[in-house]
Amino acid sequence: MFDKILIANRGEIALRVIRACREMGIKSVAVHSTADADAMHVRMADEAICVGPNAGTDSYLNMASIIAACEVTGAQAIHPGYGFLSENARFVEIVEDHGLTFIGPSAADISTMGDKITAKDTAKKLGIPVVPGSEGGVPDLAAAKKIGEDFGYPVIVKATAGGGGRGMKVALTADDMEEAFGTARSEAKAAFGNDEVYIEKYLTTPRHIEIQVFGDGQGNGVHLGERDCSLQRRHQKVFEEAPGPCITPEERAYIGKVCADAVAEMGYRGAGTVEFLYENGEFYFIEMNTRLQVEHPVTESIFGVDLVREQIRVAAGMPLSFTQDDLEINGHSIEVRINAETFPGFAPRPGKISHYHAPGGLGVRMDSALYDGYSIPPYYDSLIGKLIVHGRDRPEALARLHRALGELIVDGVETTVPLFHALLEEADIHSGDYNIHWLEKWLDANY
Ligand code: ADP
Repeated sequence: MFDKILIANRGEIALRVIRACREMGIKSVAVHSTADADAMHVRMADEAICVGPNAGTDSYLNMASIIAACEVTGAQAIHPGYGFLSENARFVEIVEDHGLTFIGPSAADISTMGDKITAKDTAKKLGIPVVPGSEGGVPDLAAAKKIGEDFGYPVIVKATAGGGGRGMKVALTADDMEEAFGTARSEAKAAFGNDEVYIEKYLTTPRHIEIQVFGDGQGNGVHLGERDCSLQRRHQKVFEEAPGPCITPEERAYIGKVCADAVAEMGYRGAGTVEFLYENGEFYFIEMNTRLQVEHPVTESIFGVDLVREQIRVAAGMPLSFTQDDLEINGHSIEVRINAETFPGFAPRPGKISHYHAPGGLGVRMDSALYDGYSIPPYYDSLIGKLIVHGRDRPEALARLHRALGELIVDGVETTVPLFHALLEEADIHSGDYNIHWLEKWLDANY
């Protein structure tokens, strides 16, 4: 096992990894930007080292500085968290070239899944059902129009290099294609430096269901059921739960096995998430994320496992500490993502926290790097906390969420907490009757 792990991230996820390290008796090294010198992850780690100026590109994405930080501190492995360098195959190669361990999958698996066309092809070959669409990239507008005719509108034009909901445009009819195709391409070029796009049938009422998988890198794979992340704004998740309110045990066993078998066949190492759209009882693969997800705690809650601990074990060449048969669902868990943003405008509002009080009690987990007097810097994303609740069943989890939100105090900045109070007033949230469009429709109708 490693003696010392460097965490190439910030905020709540850096704390999450430090906590796992501490429980395993492993020393932790935090890296930080100049702006984050007073951040909680810096205070909580055993050691901390500045890797560059404020901008993420100069610090948390600065590969040379991060590798140097390992050399200076003697850290043997790097945990990338999510975002930043977590899905950067070149970084993995550089890490390994320096004799260090990347806590995550191989560079090859990351690049396969990072290119969405290759990912879809690979998924298909591994027996995973995919959304019908173009065979590979679509070179020009004429080809795009032909695909629209063949598959029937609506369709969605998506960036091959996509992520974070960017470079995605819907064409409802043939008349929209020219604009959708052009905009998706230029957005993709601007965001990812690659304007290749592909086209899929646009599903009109799906839920977003994703399967948590784990591979030990030795040809064994398991699944930890699904998360329902259908409540989204601009293709970004805001409320996630496990198990999915509409997934039957039979469906879970079927799609879970398909994914676990795929992971085993790939010889995949570490945590991964296979994302699907789910409509009329059918699953359609959209992408695979080769990292720990923001919403991983809901899975941890219902299975009682520590996914970061498993990532570290597998990276050290140890077996998973559970088999598929050991995994049993216990109760229901919900996570809400709390951002330092206005509501309902969703405009970022960094600033100083005058008072912070985290909720507690049975079945409540608050993953956050906030503290009294902390100043949220304006350079990074606006997630300031994840409130995760667990109950014996869904109604209990919802009641607990309501109770815990009432205890939470974040003074000094605006947050998206009012969004969740408002959602908990909605009958559809209590019945679980929502799809990926529900939240935007509800926002349009009410705000
Ligand atoms: P990203 O990598 O940018 O997050 P994804 O491919 O994971 O992109 O898609 C993100 C979200 O966009 C999905 O959860 C869903 O809401 C929507 N979406 C993507 N593909 C489709 C599709 N074919 N039909 C309908 N909605 C889609």
